[in-house]
Amino acid sequence: MTATALPPDLYGLTPVELQERLRGWGLSPVHAARLWNYLYWELADDLGAMVELPMKVRRRLEAEMQLGVLPTALATDSSDGFTRKFLLTLPDARTIETVLMRFTGRVTACISTQAGCAMGCVFCATGQMGFTRHLTAGEIVAQVVHVARTLRRAGEPRLRNIVLMGMGEPLHNYDASLRAIGIVRDSAGLSLRADRITLSTVGVVPGIRRLAAENQPVSLAVSLHAATQEERAALVPAAKAWPLDELMDACAEYSRLTGRRIFYEWTLIAGRNDSPDHAHAVGRLLQRLPAQVNLIPLNPTRGYDGEPGRNEAAEAFQRVLGDVYGLPSTVRQRRGIDIAAGCGQLAAANRAGAAR
Ligand code: SF4
Repeated sequence: MTATALPPDLYGLTPVELQERLRGWGLSPVHAARLWNYLYWELADDLGAMVELPMKVRRRLEAEMQLGVLPTALATDSSDGFTRKFLLTLPDARTIETVLMRFTGRVTACISTQAGCAMGCVFCATGQMGFTRHLTAGEIVAQVVHVARTLRRAGEPRLRNIVLMGMGEPLHNYDASLRAIGIVRDSAGLSLRADRITLSTVGVVPGIRRLAAENQPVSLAVSLHAATQEERAALVPAAKAWPLDELMDACAEYSRLTGRRIFYEWTLIAGRNDSPDHAHAVGRLLQRLPAQVNLIPLNPTRGYDGEPGRNEAAEAFQRVLGDVYGLPSTVRQRRGIDIAAGCGQLAAANRAGAAR
């Protein structure tokens, strides 16, 4: 069954839309508020469990709506216990990845916005598998609820951070991604703060300009990986559609209109983009912008023979950025390497296993 053939998904509705729908059924806003509470406060995974709703409401919900809970096809924990990766099943039986990452003092969920990805970044397992389809807003919200529910059942602290950095390019699925963000931000529901929601793009220029024009209050991360058009296009084919100079213009406009700095992601690939010369090139590119650089050692994938940049290279890179250009930077803690936690790796491994 395709997602579009299904009844509307409760997870895809804003609170106002839910209220209007129930009003159309002759029900009061109190019922809508109770239902919202079940969805996002109780984190209920079954319409039948919503016992405070009158039976006739539950019957109608079951007949005309669906609660788009995504069943877990596979869940794996990293050996250090910090990372849990879920392979979740969509209604059309495709699978997507959602990752729960525990850092010191915070928990972050990494959420997918598409099944597969059209951007084709050469080192990315999702890029290597190609694009299948956009996720609906409800399917994006369902992943956040899944992680929140997992934490609740384990008695762990509430989910406060999400990154749209899983499978897919969120700005290639702009409307659904931003609708989902609006739903998970609702203060009577999951109540995630906008500044704790990070949207990561490979550099879809029209999407960055739209985010800026709409002043969407989320944090923006831009995957840079290279500081020249030629080097970047070899790693990120999307750079052919949106060249580096256009991307940097859009980023400058974004920061000017929103007043927010951008996080620039740099996957460190040994011998390819991790030298001090590369660090100087990034420094020159970003030095006049409100920017932070996040260095991420490559997660090796089957389809790409690069190796992660070494710790010493990352430290030298950081010194150039900070000492010469005054740019703040971080080196991302590597999480879940033993469970293929890099974007798309578990789904790719699962596909390969199924094909054997
Ligand atoms: S890194 Fe992101 S944008 Fe690039 S192919 Fe992978 S999922 Fe798509």
